[in-house]
Amino acid sequence: MFDNLSEKLDKALHVLKGHGQITEINVAETLKEVRRALLDADVNFKIAKDFTNRVKEKALGQDVLTTLQPGQLMVKIVKDELTELMGGDAEGIDLSGNPSIILMSGLQGSGKTTFSGKLANFLQSKKSKKPLLVACDVYRPAAIDQLHIVGEQIGVEVYSDRENNDPVAIAKAGIAHAKNLGCNVVIIDTAGRLAVDEQMMAEIANIHKAIQPQETLFVVDAMTGQDAVNTAKAFNDVLNFDGVILTKLDGDTRGGAAISIKSVVNKPIKFIGTGEKMEAIDVFHPSRMADRILGMGDVVSLVERAQEQFDEEQARKIQKKIAKNKFGFDDFLSQIQQIKRMGNMKDLIGMIPGAGKALKGLDIDDDAFKHIEAIIHSMTPTERSTPTLLNASRKKRIAAGSGTSIQEVNQLLKQFDQMSKMMKMMQGGGGKKMMQMMQN
Ligand code: GDP
Repeated sequence: MFDNLSEKLDKALHVLKGHGQITEINVAETLKEVRRALLDADVNFKIAKDFTNRVKEKALGQDVLTTLQPGQLMVKIVKDELTELMGGDAEGIDLSGNPSIILMSGLQGSGKTTFSGKLANFLQSKKSKKPLLVACDVYRPAAIDQLHIVGEQIGVEVYSDRENNDPVAIAKAGIAHAKNLGCNVVIIDTAGRLAVDEQMMAEIANIHKAIQPQETLFVVDAMTGQDAVNTAKAFNDVLNFDGVILTKLDGDTRGGAAISIKSVVNKPIKFIGTGEKMEAIDVFHPSRMADRILGMGDVVSLVERAQEQFDEEQARKIQKKIAKNKFGFDDFLSQIQQIKRMGNMKDLIGMIPGAGKALKGLDIDDDAFKHIEAIIHSMTPTERSTPTLLNASRKKRIAAGSGTSIQEVNQLLKQFDQMSKMMKMMQGGGGKKMMQMMQN
């Protein structure tokens, strides 16, 4: 996420590192580079200019007696201003209605349907809501199918009416259906076009007027940069929406949309999409995002994700197994699955301060565990629970079955062995022993 921007900002802010104090000259030099970094990230020119002007004012107006070094001070000012630019505090969504009606808007392909599913899943699992999804795209039967697939995946009911070609009527019927089912949230997925056009705007405006949603959300693909901002403006003029959803932030986004959108439409970004899976949704926190843009990672989100996935019952079971020397490959597999549920690897690594920079250029595959899983799946249940059984002929069979090589199987066995030893030591309070082992 934002690799290029982070790197350029880091370089720009580095200029001040060797200086003893902030002067008009070194600030100007730094901010010229900051502005260039923002423009390269596809931030609107005026926004970038206003941004650097504000930073300059703050930097030059600072008390000389500040305890921070000029470089640190500048990073702090840039961070505060970036946070402010992206919206200040995180904003939630209004769930006060009964049912609460959430209308999704946006261009085709922006990720509306996927996000509708993610939001339903989020509200169901994290907010104990009972959502209903409503398919209002009357032009593309495939879009209705897609919403049904999503609904099935997350266990949420989907309302659609393939015989009806009036989206307003479908939306209304959907809400009535939700009331009958006792659903307290209705998420209405609407049709999108490839570009903003009058007919689409009139249609969504009609739906909006007829159903009076508590929340109208505008979904936009973060990869589209300045275009994202222009589309947001067009939708906001017609719908006066409540919040923005930025999708595909897991991709190679330059960052322009995330940074500019709030100041153009004066609406907060409420959620971000960070992958194709239903769990790849995050509440948008401007300050955490500013940290990430400045390469400071986002430890708070990382810990939150770990906590969400942490299963106390399972942890206890595994602890017992380790104590009895019974930690096997099935347990290893379940640990991997827990990590995978936390999100894609690139995203997770980006949350560790400094890691993004340190691992730059390394191709971290989202399927980093694919081979490991294939190897474990090719073992018999007995082999998984008693790895010592794995002799040469078994390894050969496993390598063939998993489409890997004997070397890869051996490597996994070695890793597994080390991990088991380490776990055992941690259990025995042998922190010292573990340190020794890691040093060797
Ligand atoms: P819609 O036409 O607006 O309903 O868009 P879809 O929900 O069908 O999404 C279009 C494509 O983008 C699909 O292939 C989705 O899997 C993909 N997509 C949606 N959200 C994300 C995201 O956050 N990250 C990534 N990488 N892909 C996404």
